Amino acid sequence: MKATELPKNKSANRPELVVLIVIDQWPSWSFDSDKEHMTGGIAKMMTEGAFNPRIEIPYALPLTGPGHATLGSGALPMQHGIVANRWFENGKMVAAGAGAGAPYSQLQTEGLAKAWRNKFPGGKVIAIGGKGRAATLVTGKRPDLALWYEADKSGMASHSAYPLHQKAWVKELTSEKLPNKFEWKPRSSEKLASMAGEHVDDALGEGEVDHLTRAFPHDLSQTQSPHKRVRATPALDRLLFSTARKAIENELLDVNETSLLGLSLSAHDYAGHIWGQESWERREVLLRADEGLGDFLSFLQQHYGKNFTVVLTSDHGATPLVENSISKGHDASRILAKDVFAVADAAARSVLGTPKTTWVLGVLSPNVFLSDELKNHPRFKEAKAAMLSALVGVKNIQDVIDTASFSDCNELAGVKLAVCKTTFSGRTGDLFLLPTPLSWTSNGYRSGTHHNAPHNYEREIPLLIYSPSRPQWAECIAQSINKNVDVAHAIATSFGIPLENRENVGKQCGI
Ligand SMILES: [Zn+2]
Repeated sequence: MKATELPKNKSANRPELVVLIVIDQWPSWSFDSDKEHMTGGIAKMMTEGAFNPRIEIPYALPLTGPGHATLGSGALPMQHGIVANRWFENGKMVAAGAGAGAPYSQLQTEGLAKAWRNKFPGGKVIAIGGKGRAATLVTGKRPDLALWYEADKSGMASHSAYPLHQKAWVKELTSEKLPNKFEWKPRSSEKLASMAGEHVDDALGEGEVDHLTRAFPHDLSQTQSPHKRVRATPALDRLLFSTARKAIENELLDVNETSLLGLSLSAHDYAGHIWGQESWERREVLLRADEGLGDFLSFLQQHYGKNFTVVLTSDHGATPLVENSISKGHDASRILAKDVFAVADAAARSVLGTPKTTWVLGVLSPNVFLSDELKNHPRFKEAKAAMLSALVGVKNIQDVIDTASFSDCNELAGVKLAVCKTTFSGRTGDLFLLPTPLSWTSNGYRSGTHHNAPHNYEREIPLLIYSPSRPQWAECIAQSINKNVDVAHAIATSFGIPLENRENVGKQCGI
């Protein structure tokens, strides 16, 4: 008998499944108006579960890597070490979640997976995401399996570091290709029009990438790289939900202790980057995630009865479209990394003359990394002062924070404290650019939105908890948590699992 054919009454005795779902780039400000249009799983979680419209990200760099690592570990970037999506380490650029050897090797704290298996050796921990850095970080170090969408393969991928990677169903899944030449049409243009209000489809500031124009529908068969473009469509999230079902059917139904599944829905972030949070495309991705989540909750109910818990939140928010802000009379712009690089390098040259290569090693917005040649120069301080004053003069840069000035985060407050919490020795940029509100620093995006500054619209995200057998616990946790760093602790505490440092978070809500 296949796992899917197990008699339903087995569900009553099955150990609880906990699912941590991340909708990538999901700010509170856009969900405030979107939420009344939800009719699927998100709506069910809001009405039958508990809903906190705003929890805060307490550090300064709200990106996918730090966000997933924090949710999966209950630690800050200064502790888990995932300070950004990319950084320079020993002079080389590295990507978060792609460490040498095991993909989780950059993580400096263990997080949920290890604590989970210590407490429940008969359970399993599986992580799934639309991006490598989402799946490899969202449950902390060493889950039994991580699976993610790999554009170059047009399908799901894993790594030999994960004990379950050689299972037949995993091999079958990772050798499949995702159909990616199709026309993406919205389910209902009327619904999108009413949801988006005055923001029309095909608006100023939306991007045009590889034949994906600013207006629906989108024909992926026209694109040069459909395997990449499909990531900004509901097809990616559909693949992720179906992968989650396969993981449950093949690995989690027959375990004899509680298991943990991390699931990161990435299409919402890709759509936001191309077209913006306000766009019809981004809203359509959310509507389809809401629909997919509704089906997924029914699937969980079928297999687990009431014995499951779903925690739904995000890794970070996003900036409103720059063009929308300008049209409302605000001063806003996208500050390009190449311009920052040129200004900083020229300022150093004005003091020290021409270097062997460049005085600036690289700009990975909002971090500016300086070369060793500069940092070892006897007149480094003088050159750095010139760079700081030149960068503050760049349009829409409000401040430039010298991260070498930090010694103890506890002595800082405000933005400096937030920046300090996102620093880790050997990985942090030398200068941190703070844009004025509604502007952002960009490595390459010239349209759509981004999220890499400590402004509230990038650092406030919703939290929903649905636990059919423990509704009062869910309500208590949702209302008592006010930071993303507490989500992992609250989940762990409620199962009697001690996570490093802060075992009291959520304790008042009972187990
Ligand atoms: Zn993003």
